[in-house]
Amino acid sequence: MKLESPAMLAKLTPGPLVRWFARPYVAGGTMESGLEVAHDRLSRFGALATMDLLGEEVHETFEVLRNVAAYERLIDALGSDPRFQDLATRPSVSLKPSAFTAGENAEAIEHIEPIVKRAKEHGVAITIDMEDRDWTDLTIDWAVDLFERGYDVGTVLQTRLHRTEADLARIPAGMRLRLVIGIYPEPEEVALTDKRAMKQRMLDYAATLLEAGARVEFGTHDEEFLERFLREVAPHAPERCEIQMLLGVPRRPFARKLMAGEFGLVVPFRLYVPFALSWDDATAYLRRRVKESPSVMWLVLRNIFKAQRASK
Ligand SMILES: Cc1cc2nc3c(=O)[nH]c(=O)nc-3n(C[C@H](O)[C@H](O)[C@H](O)COP(=O)(O)OP(=O)(O)OC[C@H]3O[C@@H](n4cnc5c(N)ncnc54)[C@H](O)[C@@H]3O)c2cc1C
Repeated sequence: MKLESPAMLAKLTPGPLVRWFARPYVAGGTMESGLEVAHDRLSRFGALATMDLLGEEVHETFEVLRNVAAYERLIDALGSDPRFQDLATRPSVSLKPSAFTAGENAEAIEHIEPIVKRAKEHGVAITIDMEDRDWTDLTIDWAVDLFERGYDVGTVLQTRLHRTEADLARIPAGMRLRLVIGIYPEPEEVALTDKRAMKQRMLDYAATLLEAGARVEFGTHDEEFLERFLREVAPHAPERCEIQMLLGVPRRPFARKLMAGEFGLVVPFRLYVPFALSWDDATAYLRRRVKESPSVMWLVLRNIFKAQRASK
């Protein structure tokens, strides 16, 4: 392995340093800190949120049960918190199937289904995130089945995977589908390696999904492709479009222009708000981001310094 490879860099970076870099991306080490960040962004900028518990590094059954209990608490809190009484702006919840099994992947649904049922009782929408390609079939099967049984469940497709073009046809009309390039490195036999090509696919697949009646959540920070989505694709069905970004990736001028209608239409803007119950989980989350793009660290550093200068 070459020293400059992203995987090596991610491995060599000490935990405390990763934690320090993680701060902009993670809404703290408690559920309350996550809810506070979601409320802050809603009241200050009108940004919606989807909450994600960073608990996916699971090895033991007790960790699965801890994640289940944390999601139950989160859903109950969202349903009763006076800050989120308006159903239209109540945060949704994103979850990763690997957080719910310490054994076979297929066992995760035993915990996901009761969580989805509880979410319905509390008026909370669920998105089942997409992990590496070992999860693709199960995730689509579960999400589509739950949606067709009347639950507000959406999922994610990764445009880097060649199989995704065929998977589009499995998404029923009315279902929420987040399109992303995909964060998990996949081999050339099954995936694109060129990011621009992945993003072009995001536009093409968004158009296909809208035509089929699905709801499209366009998840990227690339302003060129965001603008193209808003000008070329979203006008066909703006009421079924949403733009989503990760907490901590600074795109405030873009978000302001979006909400002011400067792109010719207004679509909802949602932040993915990860929070942790311990900083070990938060560290694993950021390591994935560094593996994908080592330059992320310098972007974060630059933004932290910019913020400090601005606050002087
Ligand atoms: C809401 C949301 C949910 C997601 N859910 C999933 C999922 O379920 N499964 C999955 O595989 N992937 C998921 N992703 C991750 C996604 O697949 C990409 O890895 C990620 O969005 C980066 O790709 P990009 O399209 O922004 O393009 P890039 O080319 O990677 O980024 C565009 C520009 O944005 C900036 N940027 C991007 N990321 C960062 C960062 N972390 N810090 C600072 N600047 C940054 C850089 O300036 C970069 O030049 C999600 C992304 C979003 C926004």
